[in-house]
This record gives sequence, structure tokens and C-alpha cells, in this order.
Amino acid sequence: MKDIATPSRTKEILAKYDFFFKKSFGQNFLIDTNILENIVSYADLTEESCAIEIGPGIGALTEQIAKRAKKVLAFEIDNRLIPILEDTLSPYDNIQIVNEDVLKADVEKAINEYLPNELDIMVVANLPYYVTTPIIMKLLTEGLPIRGIVCMLQKEVADRISAKPGTKDYGSLSIAIQFYTHASTVMTVPRTVFMPQPNVDSAVIKLVKREEPAAEVIDESFFFEVVRASFAQRRKTLNNNLLNNFSHLKKDKAILEACLLEAGIEGTRRGETLSIQEFATLSNSLYKQVK
Ligand code: SAM
Repeated sequence: MKDIATPSRTKEILAKYDFFFKKSFGQNFLIDTNILENIVSYADLTEESCAIEIGPGIGALTEQIAKRAKKVLAFEIDNRLIPILEDTLSPYDNIQIVNEDVLKADVEKAINEYLPNELDIMVVANLPYYVTTPIIMKLLTEGLPIRGIVCMLQKEVADRISAKPGTKDYGSLSIAIQFYTHASTVMTVPRTVFMPQPNVDSAVIKLVKREEPAAEVIDESFFFEVVRASFAQRRKTLNNNLLNNFSHLKKDKAILEACLLEAGIEGTRRGETLSIQEFATLSNSLYKQVK
């Protein structure tokens, strides 16, 4: 039988089940086997690897992962897709589908149940574009035993995630994700390989979890507060943004001056020029003064 992702087989499956796409679930299915194989190849799976997929749709990517991994655990929010997946993925005996919103799911519990004691777990997904950032942040901050994430998302978001300091795309999202991972954009993908075609360009990113976060911070949530405040208005200097958007500093300008001096950072710089390490040094210095 042809692969699920071939345009003719996809159309056949959709027609058989009278399936209509729900925009609210970000449903743009992939119909190009080569692209899917490329995505899976970036996950560096071996016969001993397991994968977690978010949003299997009708199983196009799931099938390609299942051919290469030991087991696949997939979370799908749309209950109309569950009987379809049971049908399309019936030739594979290494797939577990969970009919849940991944943002509400207890992913760690599901891993313990379906992938117990597995040493190599990778997330591989063509993400629903309306919730890419919350899904990635959930997977990275819950302390899950995963090696990393290879996923398709909106190109504009991919550019921001993998951006380096001093570039126009660098911001709090780049820092939030690069704090936990080595991030790179590995592939751009044309609109023509989706059904229906999205009205944005797409890209695949690879996030490999760091053994330790990129910098040592006294308090992670305080660090991210400082980062967010520093980017509140991109064109403004650190001095302006931190004084106006960081409640701890409003009362006393001298505190900020002293902390910038201690961190060796000019207050006239813009947030977009600071590395993660510089933000860490600054936030640690501020933490000691205001907490
Ligand atoms: N993997 C399929 C493919 O590549 O053709 C479908 C990808 S489609 C872009 C996104 C999928 O995620 C859809 O199947 C959608 O129903 C599902 N989805 C959307 N929001 C979700 C959520 N919060 N949790 C789990 N699945 C979700």
C-alpha cells in the first residue's frame, strides 16, 4: 500500500471518512513523503529510539517515524481522527495514540506508562501553528526525559527561536528556548506540500536539550522577567526598558546603575545585543539587590 502522505492516498482517506479540516486545530496535513523522511532523519533515531509526536492528523508523519523507531507515543486532540488513525496505522504495532490536548496532558505520566525505562526519547512533530510556543515551552520546562525536539512550525517563529544576539529576530523567545537547548533551523518547507496550504511559510527546527541550562541563574523566573522587560520596546535601551517595565526598579534608579556596573554592561545598549550569559549576569546582580 502507498504511504499515507502521498496526495492520492491522503485524498482517499479524507473522502472515506468525510473528514473536513478544522482551522481552529491548526490542521494542515503533509502530503510529501520526501519532506517527512527528511524531518525524521533530523531526529537521529536508531532502532532503540522512541518518539513522541504531537498531532498525528491522519498518520502521515507517524507512519514514517514508526518505520524507524522502536515505539511512538502520539497525542491528538481531535477525536474524529482517532478511528481514522486506528485504520491508517493498523499495519504498525509500535504506536500508541492518546486522544488528549497535549497542553493539558500529563506527558510524564504517559511516558512512564507507554515508554517506561526508555533511554532515548525524541519529540518529532508537525505542530499546530496556533500553539507552537506553548507546546515547545511545556515540553522543555516539565523536566521530561527527552533528548530534544524536531518540529515543523511557522518559518517566522523558527527564525526567532534560532536567532543569535544582534539580529532582528533575537528576542525573549530565542532566549527562552536557547536557555534549555541548542537550537537550529534545519530546513525550510514550501506551502505546496500541505493540504490545505497554510498562508505562511514553514520551517523545521531542531532543539537538542542542554545537559545544563546555557547560563547559571539564581532564580529562573526572575531571569526571564528581566529578559522580557529588556525587550518590552525593542528600540529602547536597557536603561529605559528596565526602569519602565521592571516593577522592582521603579523606585530607585541607582540600583539599576549599580547592577549594570557590576555586570559590566552599558545601560545604553539594547536588549537585542545581550547574550544569554550577559542577561544571566545582570539578572543575578539585580536579584541580589531587589529580592
Ligand atoms: N502530523 C500530521 C501531518 O504532518 O500531516 C498533522 C499535523 S497538523 C499541522 C497538526 C495536528 O495537531 C492536527 O492533527 C491537530 O488536530 C492536532 N492538534 C492541534 N492542537 C492540538 C493539541 N493541543 N494537542 C494535540 N494535538 C493537537
